Amino acid sequence: MSLRLLFLGTSGGRRVTFKQLRASGGFLLESAPWRVHVDPGPGALVRLVQCGIDPGSIDAVLLTHRHLDHSGDVNALIEARTMGGWTKGGTLFAPKDALEGEDPVVFQYHRKHLDRVEAIHPHWQTTWNGFIFRAVWPHLHHGVETYGLVIEENGIRIGLVTDGRTEEGLGEHYRGVDLLILNTTFRYPKNMDHLSVEEAIPIIEAAHPRWAIITHFSMEMIGKVADEAAAYLSARTGISTIVAQDFMEITLSGKDKGVSLKVGLNPLINPLGLEKRDDPG
Ligand SMILES: [Zn+2]
Ligand SMILES: [Zn+2]
Repeated sequence: MSLRLLFLGTSGGRRVTFKQLRASGGFLLESAPWRVHVDPGPGALVRLVQCGIDPGSIDAVLLTHRHLDHSGDVNALIEARTMGGWTKGGTLFAPKDALEGEDPVVFQYHRKHLDRVEAIHPHWQTTWNGFIFRAVWPHLHHGVETYGLVIEENGIRIGLVTDGRTEEGLGEHYRGVDLLILNTTFRYPKNMDHLSVEEAIPIIEAAHPRWAIITHFSMEMIGKVADEAAAYLSARTGISTIVAQDFMEITLSGKDKGVSLKVGLNPLINPLGLEKRDDPG
């Protein structure tokens, strides 16, 4: 049994996202045969196809918050899964303010074709096809409902420190994860509702994962700055820290103390476009 994590984007700031200097499709979690798409930002649909994955095969979509760089393709993915209602099914997990209120980001029209729609809240924990999802902390993030996550599947635990301001005690909530993903948008603290590499140090120390991954990069974090930051975090925390790359695959196998990690690049990635893919008919 193994859990595969495929990064379909690593962009964070507006310029990196909207100039597509890095992709912005979130990431896919897969434990055969189940697929969960987390934070499908703009282009998620296209990035899946580029990796040879049928967007209609996504079983669940999970949003950490409603911002466009995390939810831009949510309706497109639900439409792909349900084919406009012809093949009903699929699950959506999202904070309440992504689903309700004046300006929901998930259209009602698409929602009614899903099997299950569940609102994430501060004490949310749910099971789904062998996965356990848990909201660990309501992050302070521009006044929108934003939740960090711990995802567990067959004894493997992944933490996602999503967008948000650093806070005292944040890392404790991720204690016990094997892999900790951190949305480090900046290199140095800016007193903003986004995390910096420097602020990641106490979080990684408190959570004490086996591995950490940094992602969600603004302009100041792309290129060799990210590599230097990962080396710096590894040295400061003693936790091996990896820089996420677009289309990077992480495979976690085993369980408990025997969890191992393998890093690679998606072998089917076709960066030139979609013309080489097989037409499924
Ligand atoms: Zn973001
Ligand atoms: Zn955000």
